[in-house]
Amino acid sequence: MLKTPYYLIDKQKLLCNLEIIRTVREQSGAKALLALKCFATWSVFDLMQEYMDGTTSSSLFELKLGRQKFAGETHAYSVAWADDEIDEMVENCDKIIFNTIGQLQRYAAATEGKIRGLRVNPQVSSSEFIIADPARPFSRLGEWDASKIEAVIEQISGFMFHNNCENSDFALFDQMLNTIEERFGHLLHKVSWVSLGGGIHFTGEGYPLDKFCARLKQFSEQYGVQVYLEPGEAAITLSSSLEVTVLDTLFNGKNLAVVDSSIEAHMLDLLIYRQDAKMAPCDGEHRYMVCGKSCLAGDIFGEFNFDRPLAIGDRLSFIDAAGYTMVKKNWFNGVKMPAIAVRQLDGSVEVVREFTFNDYLSSLS
Ligand SMILES: *Cc1c(COP(=O)(O)O)cnc(C)c1O
Repeated sequence: MLKTPYYLIDKQKLLCNLEIIRTVREQSGAKALLALKCFATWSVFDLMQEYMDGTTSSSLFELKLGRQKFAGETHAYSVAWADDEIDEMVENCDKIIFNTIGQLQRYAAATEGKIRGLRVNPQVSSSEFIIADPARPFSRLGEWDASKIEAVIEQISGFMFHNNCENSDFALFDQMLNTIEERFGHLLHKVSWVSLGGGIHFTGEGYPLDKFCARLKQFSEQYGVQVYLEPGEAAITLSSSLEVTVLDTLFNGKNLAVVDSSIEAHMLDLLIYRQDAKMAPCDGEHRYMVCGKSCLAGDIFGEFNFDRPLAIGDRLSFIDAAGYTMVKKNWFNGVKMPAIAVRQLDGSVEVVREFTFNDYLSSLS
């Protein structure tokens, strides 16, 4: 048995999402780029690159990772490039997507001859969380004024819209795309590619793939554009878990179990969104609050039911631990960093990375 804590990526589960992505590409003509900010565990890129067209990035380092580890196209996006990043960015990308007209103009000469696009903020969104809403008031994410965009249209050949967020409602996606067409249709005719970003939960159960593909195809044909999708969460959803061991149990009005991990250090995204971790389904009558081993008082994964009283040494598995999870792990409290393991398609489990005290040491100085 592998030593906990470790993240476990299951390639067979990953494949379920990837096969849907392949179907969508085939049926709609859209290309699919993995959004590295969601998931950057490159050990499984060998499988993912067979089903996707490349990667998109939010920084120079993500860009270089995509270039080095993932076949196909590499898109460069950043909220703001710095002067000393531009040359390396240009060297490593196939397309550049600027966040503002200001950045486009600042780097017009440095990026001459490259395929350039602009992020457009359609000012509609599906997000319930203001922290994750690109269309929030005063958002810095993309240009929204069609007349200003029109003035620089000669310098670009594409647009990126990213306004969905874990949107599993096709009707809402469709409606927001209608709004984009109403506001920017006259400009869409003048470009050759359009990325519709990420945040569309099309790999989820029951998503109407036929309608989705038909809508993308129609959009592509109407404006004569190559459509791109940038799935992050949709590409890796439900493919991975965080495996932990119970270190202590106590009763303080509730049954508590402390595990060899920390939500703040190893599943930080859940803490930011104030969501509970998900435990492999179990509906027994023994209810426990499962807590992390950092000294943060609120380091709590959630309350879960088990079919037996928990004991020291018991293994627990938090599911859905791929998206925005491994990319955010940190050394808070010096808690041992989970290893990364991959369940290969033949069922064998391979540890692909372990972290040591030296990694902790070298993360600071
Ligand atoms: C975050 C992001 C994505 C990926 O979003 P998911 O919700 O993980 O699919 C894609 N494109 C851009 C521009 C993003 O900022």
